[in-house]
Amino acid sequence: MHVDPLAPSDSGAPPDPAAGALWGAMGRPAGPFDPWQSFNAACDVWSGGHADAAGLARRARWRLHDLLESACAAPLHAERLRAAGGASIGDPGRSPSAARRAAQLPLAAIEPIGRAATLARFDEACTDRAVTLERVESFIADPARIGEAFLGRYAVWTSSGTTGSPGIWLQDARALAVYDALETLRFGGFDRPGRGAGWFEDWLRAPFGTAGRYAMVGATGGHFAGVASVERMRRLWPWAAASMHTVSILQPLRTLCAELDAIEPAVLATYPTAAAVLAAERRAGRLRLRPREIWLGGEQLTDAVRREVTEAFGCRVRETYGASECLSIAWECEHGSLHVNTDWVVLEPVDRAMRPVPPGTASHSVLLTNLANRVQPVLRHDLGDSVTVDPAPCPCGCAMPSLRVEGRRDDVLVFEGRAGTVRLLPLALVTVMEDEAGTFDFQLVARDASTLLLRLQPAADGIARATCHEALRRYLDSQGLVDVRVVDDPRPPMHEAVSGKLRRVASGPGR
Ligand SMILES: [Zn+2]
Repeated sequence: MHVDPLAPSDSGAPPDPAAGALWGAMGRPAGPFDPWQSFNAACDVWSGGHADAAGLARRARWRLHDLLESACAAPLHAERLRAAGGASIGDPGRSPSAARRAAQLPLAAIEPIGRAATLARFDEACTDRAVTLERVESFIADPARIGEAFLGRYAVWTSSGTTGSPGIWLQDARALAVYDALETLRFGGFDRPGRGAGWFEDWLRAPFGTAGRYAMVGATGGHFAGVASVERMRRLWPWAAASMHTVSILQPLRTLCAELDAIEPAVLATYPTAAAVLAAERRAGRLRLRPREIWLGGEQLTDAVRREVTEAFGCRVRETYGASECLSIAWECEHGSLHVNTDWVVLEPVDRAMRPVPPGTASHSVLLTNLANRVQPVLRHDLGDSVTVDPAPCPCGCAMPSLRVEGRRDDVLVFEGRAGTVRLLPLALVTVMEDEAGTFDFQLVARDASTLLLRLQPAADGIARATCHEALRRYLDSQGLVDVRVVDDPRPPMHEAVSGKLRRVASGPGR
């Protein structure tokens, strides 16, 4: 018998929204927050950071049982567990004793699931029957509600993901408390004092100086995990809100650099492709920024980009690995290894046939099980990233295995404008297509310095195509690329021959 202090206090009762409201800022509704969960999560993450491999496995096992049992309240997952257990366990969606039996099933018996299948049955994928796709969609349609608590108790994050399937992910107060603790204590280096692991230590010494200033450069117009997390923090901690900034990646590079120079953040968080472009601006003297640390995630971070960004800014670069399905999957230690938070997630690298691959081998995809969140269970969820688990232990002595991630690998597109060369970031183009044109299944290819090919599925009608053209035209014009033509390519989006992955934003002839 175990007692997990972070288990929900009773059968899925929501956390008290008033707890969050107490901290509400400037009259706006507060972000989801539960002080008791936060205290427990901080204690647990602290002690988990010093546990050995057996201790970490024990914590994961308890939590997995708890997750499987509670997931039975979501019809979609009850169905998956019934299929995994066969007739012998009964119907875990209807009987508590069957749910307890389902909780004993080995994880590997459960069929993996992807984003599209989860979204198609969204209402049934959640354990709280008050959550419906209709309600969530009306909530996320309003950008003014970014960072606010949905139904007074959940964070809502939207994503596009590597495969181009959109996703909507709800996080409960416990999950948010765990992410907060993992990011500040583990990634921030606070649970390993004196080892130079993180910026958080510096910030605690001088929280009111420039050391506390943070800027995230990314897509800011929707309920994406990055911007929604910053907005949630700004709502929860009004005294620190002035030092937390989000900077839109959609604006022209010149104004983006000016905005960053005005903010002077100590920590800059963004995507590797964006950081590489900013590094070139820094070297050219068009950006003066001198951050103490740069945090990169969301795409593959190559050694070349890490080196270039480190040298251009003269500061430490740290990789993070998270997703809208789970904000804190892995953290980078002082040796540069990306350690998986195995006490809070289960990551299974798999081949194309969903069979496990051994350490040292690049996987086709990776299955994620999030042990912290109950409202929308993430259970053997196909994340789409290729990862390689390091076969040797890290010299830092941490018992959590480390890995390398090859996530999204979209290209930066380079065009010639009237005022010179312009680099367009893949995330900016994806945001234009998804948010403004409402299209997720597409491919943009820079054929040459003045031609952008647009590929859509054959099913896309003339109106959808025209909407894409209009959105792209507006964006290209705003970047000073009035002469760049958008040309229809009758072919559908094409996957890479070797990896089978789709680069939605690609450059170069021959694609
Ligand atoms: Zn390490």
